[in-house]
Amino acid sequence: MRNFELLTADDPGDAIRKRAGAERSPAGGRYLAGGTNLLDLMKLGVVAPDVVINIKPLRRTLAAVVANGEGLKLGAMARMSEVADHPTVRRDFPVVSDALRLAASPQLRNMATLGGNILQRTRCNYFRDPSWQACNKRNPGSGCAAIGGVNRRLAVLGVSDHCIANYPGDFAIALVALGAEVEILDSAGTPRRIAVHDLHRDPADTPHLEVNLEPTDLITAIRVPAGPWTRRSRYVKIRDRQSYDFALASAAVALDLAPDRTVRAARIGLGGLVARPWRSQEAEAALQGKVLDENTAMQAAEAAFSGAVTHGENAFKPELGRRTLVRALLETAESEEHP
Ligand code: SF4
Repeated sequence: MRNFELLTADDPGDAIRKRAGAERSPAGGRYLAGGTNLLDLMKLGVVAPDVVINIKPLRRTLAAVVANGEGLKLGAMARMSEVADHPTVRRDFPVVSDALRLAASPQLRNMATLGGNILQRTRCNYFRDPSWQACNKRNPGSGCAAIGGVNRRLAVLGVSDHCIANYPGDFAIALVALGAEVEILDSAGTPRRIAVHDLHRDPADTPHLEVNLEPTDLITAIRVPAGPWTRRSRYVKIRDRQSYDFALASAAVALDLAPDRTVRAARIGLGGLVARPWRSQEAEAALQGKVLDENTAMQAAEAAFSGAVTHGENAFKPELGRRTLVRALLETAESEEHP
């Protein structure tokens, strides 16, 4: 690991000022929250900032979970385990609780923060190993070793000819399904909101640009709106190891159903095989006004993966993704509104 300067911020304004100062150095700075992704990447030599700004003291003001008629407000410094186990989240937003509970290991969930979790970076092997030259995300313009290489775990939705990396998180898949937003403080300390759907960028021909954030932007909270679908919601995650692994495919589903199972509204997020947190409005539209059964669930799954693009080893993923979504839809439909 390369040497760096470690600073500690006392409050959000202090963090932004210190980060702005760090950005004047050649390799810039990074915020350090839970550290479960950043320290990994620093040890691997994938990122090497000049300055690391410890923002753990911000937990004093940015870790609350607030639930009211408008929905949820989750402090960005809240830990994954705190929110997964929160009784109101479990009862009224089970898809959020499930997605957090099925992510990582207990030790990691006790350290990782919500804001950092949303921004976690791909697990593409070539990205995480700097001895590989060809990686457009780490080394812009160098090519993509994964196209034609080891890509079993990589994405089939939202990919480009320049990068097929998958977004590895679970929490953001639930958030994108529910139309959540993140609250951000910019370099002037001005707050703004951005939809989780718009936070991550398509890889296109610039896969090194991953999110629509400025370096100094600080995520302070996540807003999950209330809706008649949040209580009947589930997250299904398919992985190689049940104990602790990233998703090969996942689906976040929230449903507002009439008593005869006619779909009044469906909210669907897909993970594990997507370039960024993915909301499938095609699948939602395919279900609208239909009675939800195995047949209509399969039609929705067909719509969700109609644009899938595979590359050799990951050719199994569209079918796995379809089956995962069908299972998630049927399990959610059969579930009680209270977990
Ligand atoms: Fe790099 Fe993306 Fe290709 Fe992986 S898929 S090697 S992250 S450019």
